[in-house]
Amino acid sequence: MNEAMAAGEVVARQRAFFDAGETRSVGMRIESLRRLERALREAREEVLGALGEDLGKPGIEAFLAEYQFLLEEIRLVCGSLERWLKPRRAGSPFYFLPCRNRVVPEPHGVALVMAPWNYPIQLSLGPLVAAVAAGNTVVLKPSELAGASGRLLERLIGKCFAPEHVAVVTGGVEVAEELLDAAFDFIFFTGSTEVGRLVAEKAARRLVPVVLELGGKCPCVVDRTADIGTSAGRILIGKLFNAGQTCFAPDFVVAHEEVREALVKEMACLLEKLPWEEEMARIVNARHFGRLRGLLAGREIRKGEDDEGRLHLAPRILPDADWGDAVMKEEVFGPVLPVLGFSDVEELIGRLRGYSSPLAMYVFSRDEGFVETMMAGVRSGSVCVNDTMKQACNLDLPF
Ligand code: NAD
Repeated sequence: MNEAMAAGEVVARQRAFFDAGETRSVGMRIESLRRLERALREAREEVLGALGEDLGKPGIEAFLAEYQFLLEEIRLVCGSLERWLKPRRAGSPFYFLPCRNRVVPEPHGVALVMAPWNYPIQLSLGPLVAAVAAGNTVVLKPSELAGASGRLLERLIGKCFAPEHVAVVTGGVEVAEELLDAAFDFIFFTGSTEVGRLVAEKAARRLVPVVLELGGKCPCVVDRTADIGTSAGRILIGKLFNAGQTCFAPDFVVAHEEVREALVKEMACLLEKLPWEEEMARIVNARHFGRLRGLLAGREIRKGEDDEGRLHLAPRILPDADWGDAVMKEEVFGPVLPVLGFSDVEELIGRLRGYSSPLAMYVFSRDEGFVETMMAGVRSGSVCVNDTMKQACNLDLPF
């Protein structure tokens, strides 16, 4: 984007393009997404490099969760778009006959996509692909906390789209605020609950529809019938992927008192065995590093040492955590796993209901009745049984 151009001008230019009907052509939408796909394929090393620079992501994590995931998403969208856009026939009351009705999907107009830093490429381009496919023009605002990814996105988008169709605007909070005051027709925001609230307030003032993809505390419940070895491994891998900086990562574990100790022992063993020091992303910045350190209290089982210079926070389990601890008052968003205990299911459900609905709940159990009770008792965006994270990485499931 031209740096001197104000948010209002960017929107005005995109609105003129939209109003001229340029994005009506489904062929044009698919062609531009194919261009993005090709550019991404060519930029594979740059994508992995930027994610390494911003977050120290191990290559395999960056490849799977950002690069490959996006390519699959583009393929799905391009392959399904014509079908998704087909007008749907609708019935009529008999006294209107012989009239005919159709429901036709329409674009909103000029869309704003605001992205966070934790999956800075995937969470920027995923919503952007959807918005382009739906026939909107798009302004993308990547997170200022993932600078290398932001610069790469600017280059990639500049190569694949005319700026009146899709533009990247980089910058910090002031830029974000300026954008939120501009006349967008739709806002897709991914980020924290606090900023989400500000976004919703601004959108409400203009009566603009908004999607908020926020965070929360995703519980992981381990029943006494669970396979403890399997549960321990799957919880730890889910937690430590991207150093716990995943919105649907298991935030904390509540284990039945009969298995709590055995579970902690298994997880401690895996923590010791696996190469988390070389194979784990780092904390995004010093502020989050300090915030996470501030959540630590009581006994901990830790692998390695913290290194503030490298922003490496040693992964740890807090085996004696309690509901009143600071770590249970906010989304952890780091490689720190509090473990609590329960013996009464109703009481557990009451506790979990005390938090606002999370994106995911993980239930480890071999007792179907227990799983049903948890699903009926606790509201969450998704539920994954005897595993973590997979439900959110499956394009055949809604997220
Ligand atoms: P954030 O809310 O700090 O930032 C997100 C975006 O908002 C950035 O582009 C930033 O520039 C902008 N922003 C920041 N402060 C602003 C302000 N005062 N006014 C206007 N805009 C502002 O979030 P983050 O720290 O980048 O991301 C972490 C959070 O995102 C976690 O809570 C996580 O759970 C959540 N998240 C949710 C999803 C999901 O799909 N639901 C995915 C990833 C992350």
